[in-house]
Amino acid sequence: MTSIDKTGCQLCGVTFNINRIRTRSEPRSSAWGNSYTSKHNSREWVALSGGDAQECPDGSCASVYRGRPPGELKFCLRLYEDDPDDASYVYESDEEDEPLEYDSNAEDDDGDEVTEEENEMGSSQSQESDTEEEYKWFFNASGLDPQPEYDTEFLPLSAPYDDEGGAEDEDIGVDHHIMALPTARRYEHIAGPGCCNLRGYHGDRITLDEMIDCHTVQGLYKKTSDWTPSDDDMDFERESKNYHLTGLSDCMPPNGGDVKCAPIRGGADWFHASNLSDTWKDLFGWGTYVLPFHPTCFEIFIRISKQQMGRVSLDSLMKLESTASRSMFGERHPDIVDARNKGWKWACLLDTEYLAANPVFISGFREICDAAISDAEDFDSQSSPFPERPEKQDVSVVQDDPFLKLPTELKHTIAWHLGSKDIASLRMASRAFYHLPMTLWHTLMVREMPWVYEAWCDDPTPYPWAMADASYLKQMREREEAYTAERTRRADVLKANEPDFYPIWEENEPKSPPLSPELEAQTRLFREKKRAMAPVRLPRDRTNWYQLYTDIKANEDKLKGLRNRKRIWGAVGEIVQNVKKCWEAELVEINTPFAIMEVDG
Ligand SMILES: [Zn+2]
Ligand SMILES: [Zn+2]
Repeated sequence: MTSIDKTGCQLCGVTFNINRIRTRSEPRSSAWGNSYTSKHNSREWVALSGGDAQECPDGSCASVYRGRPPGELKFCLRLYEDDPDDASYVYESDEEDEPLEYDSNAEDDDGDEVTEEENEMGSSQSQESDTEEEYKWFFNASGLDPQPEYDTEFLPLSAPYDDEGGAEDEDIGVDHHIMALPTARRYEHIAGPGCCNLRGYHGDRITLDEMIDCHTVQGLYKKTSDWTPSDDDMDFERESKNYHLTGLSDCMPPNGGDVKCAPIRGGADWFHASNLSDTWKDLFGWGTYVLPFHPTCFEIFIRISKQQMGRVSLDSLMKLESTASRSMFGERHPDIVDARNKGWKWACLLDTEYLAANPVFISGFREICDAAISDAEDFDSQSSPFPERPEKQDVSVVQDDPFLKLPTELKHTIAWHLGSKDIASLRMASRAFYHLPMTLWHTLMVREMPWVYEAWCDDPTPYPWAMADASYLKQMREREEAYTAERTRRADVLKANEPDFYPIWEENEPKSPPLSPELEAQTRLFREKKRAMAPVRLPRDRTNWYQLYTDIKANEDKLKGLRNRKRIWGAVGEIVQNVKKCWEAELVEINTPFAIMEVDG
């Protein structure tokens, strides 16, 4: 990440706009090529471009015809109104697929004219800011379709480039015929085993579960003058002089502006992403500018802050800044630098898929942890994890081994000072060290892999916003806003036309929309999935630390989320050091006002 980029996670450096190219066996919902909008509002796919066939030369990739991309459809809706062939045209609802059970007679009053106006508004405003548009998008959204859609008709990557659609320019490798561009956008790139496309991570290299929440954004918002504590505040929000957490967004717009979050917390209805320090923001009165991050990265920030400072300081974090001349968010990892430099926005380089893997809810890690925890009655973490060795072999060597004469305490003292490689060598060299207690590997884990905080913290449960379902929260907000707008409209009509009936209606009409069983079921599934992957506490005396240690080592490449956690632990550790310096400087200021005056004077 270049230091001034503000639309990525400021803690881990990874963009929120991560694309995914599905394989032939995955459903349409597992691919997305435009994560600037909410998934339930229809995301596009990674479309074909002129260079695709050359980029993926082994012929294993394919394409699928998808019709007009949702963004284009939205923009050009009126132009295409009469196109009966357009598969994606269904989004503009007929009465037939009007699923708004509480919206009985809205159509009658509005008529066609209003619909056209709405379309015009939709084409000139961002989807994030138009209530009428959201209303339509939400209730016709593919996100609510519980049936995954698979494709069977696969075309070559050259499919859009025929006589009609345009041609590829052989000299400069781009679309020669300008008309080939919109045509190619209707085709989705499908990854084969030899796919080299860098515009999305490939389905065969990283699973959907591993990528869970890679688009989720949260930020720190300036407390307004009328800010009051609420029940869901974290301690550090109450303690903070100036900042509190926003709700969540399930997407980040390309310029970082107008990010709508849910629920609305304090004054944070929407925000702009920024990584300037609050000194700058104060100067310009930028109360709505927030520091954006993944909730899971903030979870790591909380863990390290508590470990290093005994507290979480939002005010000091907001003093950090990232500008062209200085970045207090630290050096970025080489893989981040490469992703930023080898593409227009974010290059999904092969073998760096782990950058998009969730570092807290780690697919496959929970199983390894659970397997190391024992509830057997005779389990003793002080015992050796190794089987007894037959006594017959190497009698002479055994007799010559001077370490055998050492008392156990001394042997343990030696072992406890060694690293894992030396311990392995020592166990090979001397039978005196063949048996060592499992807790030795607990010490090794804490020392060598501090990011496996399950091994040392009392409660690894993530803070509530990392556990939450951003998509659900956003959809709930949209539902409520659409419902309230419609309710107000109907109230106005009744007040004017049926003044006697209005008070009765007002009293009986629900103030919020009915729950959507589909949406509730979706979020239940999502939360269950996250709970199943959530970090689990490893009791010190019930865990086979040797088994856990070796299982982690053996699966290092497979556990992408853990690899990412290791990277983020280093990056956030550096940030916490800077936060700590700010915080300590402030403490000095508060505690020694006279000293400061002297210095200033
Ligand atoms: Zn992050
Ligand atoms: Zn490919």
